[in-house]
Amino acid sequence: MSDPADNNFKAPPGVKVVTSASQLAVDDRPAPEMAAWCLQRKNIIVLKSGTILTADPGSRDVQNCRIAMVNKGLRPGKIMVAAPSLINTFLANLGSAEDYKQIQQEVAEEISSQQKRLRTLVQEAIDADVSDIHIEVRTDVCRIRFRKYGELYLHSEWFPRLGREVAAVAFNKETDHATAHFNPLVPQDAAMPLRLSGGEVRLRLASMPAHGGFDMVMRILSSGRATGTVSLDDLGYTPEQIYIIKRAIAMPHGAVLLSGPTGSGKTTTLASCLHLIKTTRKVYTIEDPVEKVVPTVTQVPVNTDTDDRSFASFGRAALRMDPDYIVLGEMRDEDTANVMLRATITGHLVFSTIHTNSAPGIILRLADMGISSVMLSDSNVLVCLIFQRLIAVLCPHCKIPAVKAKEHQEELHRWQTIFEEDYPKLYARKPGGCNHCNRSALAGRKVVAEVVWVDEKGREFIQKLDILGWERYLRSMGWRTYRDRAMQMVREGLVDPFDAEALIGEMTVTDESKGFDYNIAREQMEKEKARKGE
Ligand SMILES: [Zn+2]
Repeated sequence: MSDPADNNFKAPPGVKVVTSASQLAVDDRPAPEMAAWCLQRKNIIVLKSGTILTADPGSRDVQNCRIAMVNKGLRPGKIMVAAPSLINTFLANLGSAEDYKQIQQEVAEEISSQQKRLRTLVQEAIDADVSDIHIEVRTDVCRIRFRKYGELYLHSEWFPRLGREVAAVAFNKETDHATAHFNPLVPQDAAMPLRLSGGEVRLRLASMPAHGGFDMVMRILSSGRATGTVSLDDLGYTPEQIYIIKRAIAMPHGAVLLSGPTGSGKTTTLASCLHLIKTTRKVYTIEDPVEKVVPTVTQVPVNTDTDDRSFASFGRAALRMDPDYIVLGEMRDEDTANVMLRATITGHLVFSTIHTNSAPGIILRLADMGISSVMLSDSNVLVCLIFQRLIAVLCPHCKIPAVKAKEHQEELHRWQTIFEEDYPKLYARKPGGCNHCNRSALAGRKVVAEVVWVDEKGREFIQKLDILGWERYLRSMGWRTYRDRAMQMVREGLVDPFDAEALIGEMTVTDESKGFDYNIAREQMEKEKARKGE
């Protein structure tokens, strides 16, 4: 063996090694059906007799090869150890002798099997009502995790190679990204529309390099299912909040602004609001991308990847289209905010979303974008401000009293001082759940929201940008924050106190007392120390 390809090759002891084609039957040559597969792997040759030639009979590729053969209707034969130089010779001849087009076609089929895998994965995620798919590729394993009701759980583990292939195929073959190629070494993102049996699914792809591999996250923007309208009531809005929102929608002009973190269900709420508008009105929505299809309105997709100003420019264009209502998907800069202002002042009702941490905080965000407080307090402009988050709701079939939950014991006393006579009515997740909730112990998520009607008195605070004073005034008028709402749901036994505290921080007797109690902090630390000392 003088071929340099054989230098590192060591045959297993006592095994006969094929070093030349003359040692094989005269007509036993590479099987054309497996040519493309072998050309991709570069370390295996499959013969017409079904014999598999490999330099490493113990490798996983041999097993994969047998599976590939069965899939192509071939019967796997014996495995023979061959010198790498012989395999290379066969491979070289395959590349020249075979009809190149046919091989290309088979290679294409090979890729589409990864595309099938991707579709299966997305379908599984949609069937499980999942919001995000995490593909975590590392050197030894690829973990697939699903996010449901805000929490991640392990869906499956793949060979890292499969994870790489599916991620690459998703980015290169399925996204609208015409320019870039998937590169696991740099952060990338793209939109991915997928046609599945249930309809068109829209996903957002983002990837990030990680030690030993990379992460790819696919957010499911719309499942393509005809979901029908979800009412504000079903979403979790209280009757008082729905009353305010309906009153806002009935206004001839002004702005209704909806805020909340990413993934807090703003799009769903916006769609529910649009369904409340009379069909005799003309509605334009400017969205990036269109997520929930609402048949009674004109939905205009924009691509902010290619044009930062498109929200604003499409919004200005919509103003010339004789609209009654305009929905600006997201208010992210001064340009868009100015379109909102112009629309309200010219007699339209505008809906938009914005990122803030509270409903009154929307004012500061707009001021930050460069809108003057005089403008913000104009009686034509702001009508209603909404802030929402999502909270996990307990499965009604298996929830257990919090007093009986093991991991709740430490906190029971603290909660007792908060909820007093309602304390025995608190419920908790049952570890392991039940059949109704797929063992998650949860029944989905509901909105916890705060809704502000901007009145004359409120405008005085807005003009001074006195958010704290405004909040104090709102409270005196009976306004409730999303924290109050979350605590109310704990009180009603709908939400595990731990889930509430994960969202709003530690619950307190009254939200009025925003003061930080150092004595309590000291007591907590001492308790913890005592516990560790046990
Ligand atoms: Zn259950």
